[in-house]
Amino acid sequence: MNYESARKRMVHEQLLPRGITDQRVLDAMAATPRHLFVQDALRSQAYGDFSMPIGLGQTISQPYIVALMTQALELTGDETVLEIGTGCGYKTAVLAKLADRVFSVERLKELHIRARQTLDQLQVFNAVCTTDDGTLGWPQYGPYDAIIVTAAGPDIPQPLLDQLADPGRMVIPMGDQHSQQLVIIKKADGNLTHEVLEKVRFVSLIGQHGWQG
Ligand code: SAH
Repeated sequence: MNYESARKRMVHEQLLPRGITDQRVLDAMAATPRHLFVQDALRSQAYGDFSMPIGLGQTISQPYIVALMTQALELTGDETVLEIGTGCGYKTAVLAKLADRVFSVERLKELHIRARQTLDQLQVFNAVCTTDDGTLGWPQYGPYDAIIVTAAGPDIPQPLLDQLADPGRMVIPMGDQHSQQLVIIKKADGNLTHEVLEKVRFVSLIGQHGWQG
């Protein structure tokens, strides 16, 4: 399996035709070995146009959704980013290529540990991970220029709005447990605006400001 050509195909057949035009995002995804974030048995499918199981009932998002969410943050390289839902750490690795520093919170310790091992293997040292309830954010390192939430809750957790810098951008899926909308929230001059990007389906955001576990 030639993973590099599989990555190129992913960019040309899945991302560009669907309107992913941010060259930095395309380059970051072309350079991130997604297959290392999934179990050995699934590696040959890692660049397919779908989400995949990563254990403990959780998933790695479809490449297009990773790209869409990341592009919406309009990162230039100077930002401090908060990610809620590290999962396998794939999106963390992509974000780490595009921003200055990434702070990532995962609720399930086993996933956090596995993600950290893969990120260490790839020498991603500008991403810091922890196990905690991400609906509370990570106040210690905020405010954040960008916040990305990769699990869906009923509403936007207030601590995340509080920890979003001004100006700042947050992308989050919201809705019930079966169907949700991906929303971009922009904070500027003390005002918040919302825009719906896409209909999506994510695993549940479980925590104090999310669904009950
Ligand atoms: N970022 C991954 C997606 C992982 S799936 C990717 O793009 O591939 C979403 C993750 O959110 C799961 O690992 C789940 O355990 C985690 N999660 C759910 N509720 C959470 C919470 N309150 N705080 C932190 N992580 C949470």
